[in-house]
Amino acid sequence: MRTIKHWIDGTEVDGAGPFTPVHDPATGAVIAELATADQGVVDAAVAAARTAQRAWAATSLARRTEILFRMRELVVANTDELARVISAEHGKTVDDAIGEIGRGRETLDFACGINQANKGEFSADASTGVDVHSLRQPVGVVAGITPFNFPVMVPMWMHPVAIGCGNAFILKPSERDPSAANFVARLYAEAGLPDGVFQVVHGGKDTVDALLAHPGVGAVSFVGSTPIARYVQQVGIANGKRVQALGGANNHAVVMPDADFEFAAAQISSGAFGSAGQRCMAVPVAVAVGGAAEPLVAALKAEAEKITVGPGSDPATDMGPVITAQARERVIRSATDAIEAGAGVVVDGRDLTVRGHENGYFVGPTLLDNVTPEMSAYRDEIFGPLLTVLRVADLDEALELVNSSPFGNGSAIFTNSGEAARRYSHGVEAGMVGVNVPIPTPVAYYSFGGWKDSLFGDHHAHGPEAVRFYTRNKVITTRWPHRDSQVEASMSFPSTTD
Ligand code: NAD
Repeated sequence: MRTIKHWIDGTEVDGAGPFTPVHDPATGAVIAELATADQGVVDAAVAAARTAQRAWAATSLARRTEILFRMRELVVANTDELARVISAEHGKTVDDAIGEIGRGRETLDFACGINQANKGEFSADASTGVDVHSLRQPVGVVAGITPFNFPVMVPMWMHPVAIGCGNAFILKPSERDPSAANFVARLYAEAGLPDGVFQVVHGGKDTVDALLAHPGVGAVSFVGSTPIARYVQQVGIANGKRVQALGGANNHAVVMPDADFEFAAAQISSGAFGSAGQRCMAVPVAVAVGGAAEPLVAALKAEAEKITVGPGSDPATDMGPVITAQARERVIRSATDAIEAGAGVVVDGRDLTVRGHENGYFVGPTLLDNVTPEMSAYRDEIFGPLLTVLRVADLDEALELVNSSPFGNGSAIFTNSGEAARRYSHGVEAGMVGVNVPIPTPVAYYSFGGWKDSLFGDHHAHGPEAVRFYTRNKVITTRWPHRDSQVEASMSFPSTTD
């Protein structure tokens, strides 16, 4: 049995903690055992990070970006192998994993320009003979706690920017698909990153709690479900840390009667069923406005029925399994409850089995019509290949429905009307909005984040907001008086107009 170890101070370490099994979701088989970090392992990682960070923060920007450029090239060169590592433990198709790596790599591209993104400000003669400048200095040791659904991309929203800004980064990846984190650690080592600047500790709640309590950790970036995001933010803040915690989602796509239904259905179907619906920007809800309902549902049915379900390693597969047996049960139960409460079944994937993979965690694409807001299939984040259609009379009703959701991650509108698109984008309570774009995940030089229960904290992930999150501002006021000049000290609060 392969053992997945921690990556501490440039080398793999077992640690003394217990081991947990890692499964192949396409077969249900145990494929590896994962070391879990106890307090001793976390202490060792933080100690190594603190030592490494001091030297790293003093390393020139030119040298730091040289290493990040090399890392970028290594990620490109190793994309296919890394994609297979993701697919084996997550279950998504290799092509989808390649897409994930590409979107994560965009943040490395951004971090290669950190010398431009993290420039200070300068004001000459703010007062007579007085100049003011600002600089942003690293927080120190930063921890990243990440979910299973993007084992490379989500950590990559964090570590290139944190490291580029001069921090040391400790990643605690999901225990469901942990191997990709070690792969990335080895690439950083090959790129020449000093030992201790990027480390990996594995585990679940106990490891997270040890990081949240550790006085040597200055900031925590979390991405995962809403209850854990809320917990991480509260505990992290109580322990005096800077915290950004991105939570769950329930993204709506509103389809207006003037939309191109075939186009909208193809886009929404890819958003709902891609990666088996396990994306934070997935589209599990279609809101059909007025006369859009009948043609939209017919077009969605045609799209859902085209999807080939199978193991992610098979090039013919469009959609792989969900992550665990429990996740499969959750999707099936939610669909069944909705149907019993009156929803219409348009496509039913609950009984699907994949030949040769009878123990895999597969659910077929499932499409329910006439779903109502009280049903758990709509209300809760299902995180599986279940697409619900709700019908509303007009755009105002659509906005009211979407804005009554506790989540506010992404949202999309499909329309040919600029007026409707503008009204929706400005009125919707969500952090990321798509106009005829189902998954409006911002490019890396903008920042990523939701509103309401989809994000706790003040800063979004990656891009300019990440630079602010991973640095502390310092403003320096300077006077170099000429030895003959008369600079009077005053007991009154100093005025700048003198
Ligand atoms: P999760 O919340 O179960 O786990 C996330 C991380 O928290 C993992 O590293 C896990 O080990 C840790 N964790 C789990 N239980 C914990 C506990 N009780 N105490 C402390 N730490 C704990 O999420 P998941 O199932 O891995 O991922 C799916 C969720 O992530 C979905 O809700 C999805 O919407 C969300 N997500 C959000 C975004 C976003 O940008 N907002 C992006 C990706 C995923």
